[in-house]
Amino acid sequence: MNKGEQDVWHCFSQMREFYRNTPIILNRAEGHYFYDVKNKKYYDGVSTLLNASFGHNRSELMEAIYTQARKLDVTSLFNAGNDISQQYFDRLKLYLPPNLNKVFYTNSGSEAVETAYKICRQYHWLVGDEKRTKFISMKGAYHGSNLLANYITAASSINRGMEKIIDQELFFVVDIPDSYDETDATENELVVDRLHSLESMIIDQGPETFSSIILEVVQLSNGAYPLPKLFLEGVQNLCRKYGLLFIIDEIATGFGRTGSMFAFGTYDLKPDIITLGKAINNGLIPMGAVVVSEHIFNAFLGEKDEDKELLHGYTTSGHPIACAAALATLDLMENTSILECVNELGSNLKTSLMPLLNYEFVKCISGNGMMLALRFKPGYRVAMSEKWGISHILDSKLKQRGFLFYPDDEDTLIIAPPLTSSREEIVSLVDTVLSTIEILS
Ligand code: PLP
Repeated sequence: MNKGEQDVWHCFSQMREFYRNTPIILNRAEGHYFYDVKNKKYYDGVSTLLNASFGHNRSELMEAIYTQARKLDVTSLFNAGNDISQQYFDRLKLYLPPNLNKVFYTNSGSEAVETAYKICRQYHWLVGDEKRTKFISMKGAYHGSNLLANYITAASSINRGMEKIIDQELFFVVDIPDSYDETDATENELVVDRLHSLESMIIDQGPETFSSIILEVVQLSNGAYPLPKLFLEGVQNLCRKYGLLFIIDEIATGFGRTGSMFAFGTYDLKPDIITLGKAINNGLIPMGAVVVSEHIFNAFLGEKDEDKELLHGYTTSGHPIACAAALATLDLMENTSILECVNELGSNLKTSLMPLLNYEFVKCISGNGMMLALRFKPGYRVAMSEKWGISHILDSKLKQRGFLFYPDDEDTLIIAPPLTSSREEIVSLVDTVLSTIEILS
């Protein structure tokens, strides 16, 4: 092992390049800041990975974890319930439409998506629709890294090559009305066109063969792209018309990130299933959840010998400490009235970044609330690098200046600071991004 290298294999990373670029090795965190092993300070400009919405080491959350650990540290939903997992869901339900009133707990977002898919398949089978096996997802989506979740992510640039192993018979990725694409068409024309293609595909394949459609209201990994309202509502209508279950993935957008508790809440959307993760408990203990409509849950009810149960679960599903941290996170959201501040803070941030549009290589600033992306013109190379896309170069310069963001691909930099960031922190973030881009231009 060369100096500076570790044995830890990093996510979505080309490890040789990773070491060459002198990786940051973090050692501790406090508030909205990380400190590395050399005690250099970094502002957590992407809330770790959109999970640490309240920053680090919040005493309210630490105390909740400690108290729960001393009371009931670990249980398994395989053989007993635990009180805190129900108490948490009782509170969460207050933020959900009444039909979404059953929960299955997982350890991550990918597992939540995986679980949702299994539930859909088995649900259709249980109600006598055995042929409904196919899934539809949206171009540009990211739904996770496990094999099944990865299949439906395959169109995204972060999963280059996955299309080679996709089961073309089962997984269908459809075009979205991306109005940032080079096109002369209006957003409405694109919406009508994409909905028409989706419906034609469903009819061609046979509506009775489709299980469900999954989408994100704001696509994080597609440069924080908010799908148009009319498209979202149109997809929901097609689900109703042809009997498909409608899944909304709120793993990145949930818990206030885009300005409301859940991104779907600002539209007339009534999903059958939502998937949750990331900020559910401020990222403190791995946790995800699938919230399902009662009619789906009821299809699984039966007697012992009816073979209707969902044969699925994780050793740590409904982990008491994870649920206690989630409950304390809801308390914190309420006590800080965070949902009332996010939109204002986010729109200040977005407006202050607007001068970036004066650079010819900046395509747009996309996103809602505190989930934004700087999107650069594809293929643009700055003078200092023929090899790396602009988002990677910018990201490395920002790291040197003590700011951590996330370059999602060559042309996209995700900016998603803690929801509790102060005005001064946002000003400093904006000044640093503007002055760093100035150097690159
Ligand atoms: N779905 C969305 C929308 C996500 O953004 C992510 C992660 O970024 C996932 C699913 C997968 O979640 P996890 O990384 O917790 O498995």
